[in-house]
Amino acid sequence: MTAPAEPTGTDTTAATAGPANPLIAPTAAGHRRVLTGDRPTGPLHLGHYFGTLRNRVQLQSQGLELMIVVADYQVITDRDRPDRLAERAENLVLDYLAAGVDPGRATIFTHSAVPALNQLLLPFLSLVSVAELSRNPTVKDEIAHSRQSAVSGLMFTYPVHQAADLLFCKADLVPVGQDQLPHLEVARTVARRFNDRYGTLFPEPQALLSDAPLLLGTDAGKMSKSRGNAISLGADGDETARMLRGAVTDPDRHIAYDPEHRPGVSNLLLLTALCQDRDPHQVAEEIGAGGAAALKRTATEAVNEYFRPLRARRAELAADRTLLREVLHTGNARANEIANRTLAEVRTAMGTF
Ligand code: ATP
Ligand code: MG
Repeated sequence: MTAPAEPTGTDTTAATAGPANPLIAPTAAGHRRVLTGDRPTGPLHLGHYFGTLRNRVQLQSQGLELMIVVADYQVITDRDRPDRLAERAENLVLDYLAAGVDPGRATIFTHSAVPALNQLLLPFLSLVSVAELSRNPTVKDEIAHSRQSAVSGLMFTYPVHQAADLLFCKADLVPVGQDQLPHLEVARTVARRFNDRYGTLFPEPQALLSDAPLLLGTDAGKMSKSRGNAISLGADGDETARMLRGAVTDPDRHIAYDPEHRPGVSNLLLLTALCQDRDPHQVAEEIGAGGAAALKRTATEAVNEYFRPLRARRAELAADRTLLREVLHTGNARANEIANRTLAEVRTAMGTF
């Protein structure tokens, strides 16, 4: 199954992504520790779920250790100040647990609470050039969508910070969406150059892409928390129907799966197929000449049916904010232990104090 093409065409790395790419792990076999994360900029959406969250849960159930970073410092890459940070961080935990992450075995932490992790940014920044940072296609896309008038230094350097998120715990597998591939390349470069310069300490983490590495939003651009085009995991049936009714499609009444030429239609077919564990071509054939309205009805039913249990669990868990806070508290303590150990190793390797 292939995902719809990025209509803005900004992620050039994606064109070369495939099983032969050493950046991308074909399976979880041979890997040990998984790290991935999300910005606390709003509730998680269907793109997160099918792009990475479902994989996180599956990897955890296969016995891999799961670390999740609530990337709070990344919020201020493109915002003047973080908004309702604590509440949003807790809501991410709520989404994780509702999706099936086992809090007893996962380490869920906020990177601002782990000083030793952040300190790794300094030596890591010395390992990449300004030219390398400037040509990152995801950063360019995010700058294009930013509401800020000036681009901050953090915007250009956050992929290196993200390398610290991965390397502090020596994660070797990273279930992410396609937009993260350039950042994974930065992390691998940092690991390789550090190892060459100071002696081998870090693994080169690999990405794990899902069947939906780039789910589109209702405007047929990347579904994103910040772009007003997302259907959140916690949305109810009516809200889902309203959002999907407004999704961008095209006037051709004959429904066909053609991600390159018909991104909006193909994305709704993919979404339906993911929810029903089917092939999007098959869904298209069933709808045939039914037009976009029939497609939207089918997609709405599929999403509401698939997410019913998750939404019910989410509503139950939402009643206990103490649990959500405790999960972060425990995760932060564990992440600090790991980060302190790694920073001590880095100091020894570099001969610093
Ligand atoms: P924001 O708009 O605030 O940047 P976002 O929706 O892009 O939010 P992130 O927190 O930046 O979400 O991304 C978290 C993870 O989810 C990353 O691994 C990213 O690749 C993945 N992801 C985000 N959006 C999608 C999408 N539309 N399709 C597939 N994966 C996605
Ligand atoms: Mg993002």
